[in-house]
Amino acid sequence: MPDARFLVVFDADSTLLRNEVIELIADEAGRGAEVAAATEAAMRGEVDFAASLRSRVAELSGVALDAFARVRARVEPTPGARELIATIHERGGVAAVVSGGFHEILDEIAPALGVDVWRANRLGHDGRVLDGTVDGDIVDAEAKAASLRGWAAERGIPLARTIAVGDGANDLRMMAAAGLGVAFNAKPAVRRQADLVVGPIDLRELVPLLP
Ligand SMILES: [Mg+2]
Repeated sequence: MPDARFLVVFDADSTLLRNEVIELIADEAGRGAEVAAATEAAMRGEVDFAASLRSRVAELSGVALDAFARVRARVEPTPGARELIATIHERGGVAAVVSGGFHEILDEIAPALGVDVWRANRLGHDGRVLDGTVDGDIVDAEAKAASLRGWAAERGIPLARTIAVGDGANDLRMMAAAGLGVAFNAKPAVRRQADLVVGPIDLRELVPLLP
């Protein structure tokens, strides 16, 4: 990996994207409302993230893989996302995403926004429909922090020159690991522990914070 001046790591759902993608997938199973309520509790930090994710993904069982095209079409980037990432690049930085959401969606959305590197969960399936499992290790709060540390180390960036941006309780560890932890559009527990609180509407508010 080439060295870079600084690293910005974004959460995806409700941070870089307006949506919680798992709710959009659950809509395809007619279970959007239940999954939305469970996601809200997880993002407030009221329940264990990994256990919550497994039970929410179980609700997605039976959704056909061809539903992902409809889901992707409903995903809305947060205003200012493209402009902020373009500015990160102009200043010699790297833009990354680590998500408790899913590669099945991010693999199209992240490159379209100019994101350099990303990591998320994968949904288990039988080639036709989702089987209600998470495939592989879950990207939880610790995995988010480890991703930030790993991407910084690969590019020779000291942690002091990293910024983590998130809205949920599972973003707090990466925000603590980063030089600057920014709460964007965030839950009260996240706002209380962040170095800075911005948003909730436009990501361009972060431009003055870039090194
Ligand atoms: Mg989020």
